[in-house]
Amino acid sequence: MSNFVWCHGPSCHKSHTQDRIRGVKGSKVLRTKKVQQTEWNRDRMYSYFCSQGCYNDFANTYVREVIAIAPRLEPLETPINVTKEQVQYGWRDGTYTNTRITTVDNNGG
Ligand SMILES: [Zn+2]
Repeated sequence: MSNFVWCHGPSCHKSHTQDRIRGVKGSKVLRTKKVQQTEWNRDRMYSYFCSQGCYNDFANTYVREVIAIAPRLEPLETPINVTKEQVQYGWRDGTYTNTRITTVDNNGG
């Protein structure tokens, strides 16, 4: 059973690679690549794109539509605690200030 989707990169069929060549002499074409569906790429972007380049082409072509799915109109914030601590290093009494950021668990757990 062949389980695949065609790469969604809008220019996938324009890349000059041998594995895209199909057809017989005199009527050859560059064809969009197949993307095999595996347990490793299930529900991941690599189940729809043959490469990072094709993913970037798609994202740059359709960025407005993609952002419209979940627009960010306000910033998100993560509650944190910030603590400073002096840390000694070496054997000569040298110290530096270490900034420690920990997230605040608002779920009571
Ligand atoms: Zn592709």
